[in-house]
Amino acid sequence: MKASEIRRKWLEFFAEKGHKIEPSASLVPHNDPSLLWINAGMAPLKAYFDGRVVPENPRIANSQKCIRTNDIENVGKTRRHHTMFEMLGNFSIGDYFKEETITWAWEFLTNPKWIGFDPDRLSVTVYPEDTEAYEFWNKKIGIPENRIYKLEENFWDIGEGPCGPCTEIFYDRGDKYGDLNDPECWPGGENERFLEVWNLVFSQFNHNKDGSYTPLPNKNIDTGAGLERFASILQDVDSNFDTDLFQPIIQQTSQIAGVTYHMNADHDVALKVIADHIRTVVFAVGDGVLPSNEGRGYIIRRLLRRAVRYGKSLGIEKPFMYKLTETVGSIMGTYYPEVVEKCEFIEKVIRTEEERFHETLSDGLDMLQSIIAGLKKEGSTVIGGQDAFRLYDTYGFPLDLTEDFAQENGFTVDSAGFESEMEAQRNRARSARQESESMKVQGGPFAEYTVKTEFVGYTDLVTTAKIVA
Ligand code: ATP
Ligand code: MG
Ligand code: MG
Ligand code: MG
Repeated sequence: MKASEIRRKWLEFFAEKGHKIEPSASLVPHNDPSLLWINAGMAPLKAYFDGRVVPENPRIANSQKCIRTNDIENVGKTRRHHTMFEMLGNFSIGDYFKEETITWAWEFLTNPKWIGFDPDRLSVTVYPEDTEAYEFWNKKIGIPENRIYKLEENFWDIGEGPCGPCTEIFYDRGDKYGDLNDPECWPGGENERFLEVWNLVFSQFNHNKDGSYTPLPNKNIDTGAGLERFASILQDVDSNFDTDLFQPIIQQTSQIAGVTYHMNADHDVALKVIADHIRTVVFAVGDGVLPSNEGRGYIIRRLLRRAVRYGKSLGIEKPFMYKLTETVGSIMGTYYPEVVEKCEFIEKVIRTEEERFHETLSDGLDMLQSIIAGLKKEGSTVIGGQDAFRLYDTYGFPLDLTEDFAQENGFTVDSAGFESEMEAQRNRARSARQESESMKVQGGPFAEYTVKTEFVGYTDLVTTAKIVA
């Protein structure tokens, strides 16, 4: 079953159950300073959950593009993590609650008309105090006790906002992924024998700013399932990266690099990281984020640079990421037309950034090499925090890049020293910001204008800077 069909089935199933289908919101949160990226299907619907806005239909379903940068280190190492993925969700705003949620989840997963998983392969986890959920799974659905795991961490709480107990559904990939006697193989363990596919959150409390919890005016349902994970099971492949969502990108990159996928473990990690990061960058740029030195733009810059570095490890020395843009569009464009409509623009942004980074790399490498040569003379094997920071600040060399190069040369980096240099810079930026805040107060309405000054030289003795915007 192709991923696009899984997505279609999801939306069709929940439409049949009376849900309004919402298109995916932008990756850039709207009116929500607490989030850098939309990181779950529920994130763009928060105002419904906390009662600020009443939806026209209390049942909603979507397929939401999400970015989770906290999973970056997992990418390419686990079978299931991406920095950008699609979360399939169904939501109830004060309408149905636990029983319907569980019953429908089971129907979608096991009925051959929909996903048709073998029911014996499914296990669930519940919050220990949530006897209600336990009883539904056990008595109504008929899941035997030994396949219901009680987990303390099954309480969904991401800080300020709605929260509550959850129940998660895991697919057992079988003996070849680990021994059932090993607790690490159980749901919630590190092993991926049991693949977490779906999280059903029963949000009944609000986590308030002051840390207290109060019952929500209405109980809500918030669920999230990973489209890429469904695809990996339904396409009977080893990892999300082997599905039709990623393979065309991996194949194209292999061709550019002249390597073969599944021949060398290090190459495979590189190919997966590149395929992952290009999707994130393409989607983020499509949503208007441009590479820069702060916030979202900086994340995009780092992801792109990280991918280029992995490309280097495959022997790719020239800009190539931009060439993958069209492929991402051809995989995703039917549901996310923006990545096709803006393809040319996205390509240009990525290409420019790649070209600049290649320059950075060659300039920065010269400096790094001279630092290393100097240290060798002194008999030291540690690159100092100040040097690492200078590389970062002047050449845009991220710390992990410096660390990688250092490691290849038998060196380490004083990362604590680097951090304190960073902190010092942050403090400088903060005090500059505070200054401009106080200017705002003093300047009244005019302070709202963004004013850039440009040095125009000494031609005018009175004005040496000109306001340009
Ligand atoms: P995991 O334990 O595998 O990291 P999670 O518990 O962090 O997943 P949830 O926050 O419960 O994930 O998100 C709901 C669903 O979204 C998960 O069950 C999974 O199917 C999917 N999902 C979460 N994070 C990712 C990711 N980084 N890449 C791909 N899919 C993801
Ligand atoms: Mg996770
Ligand atoms: Mg989990
Ligand atoms: Mg989970």
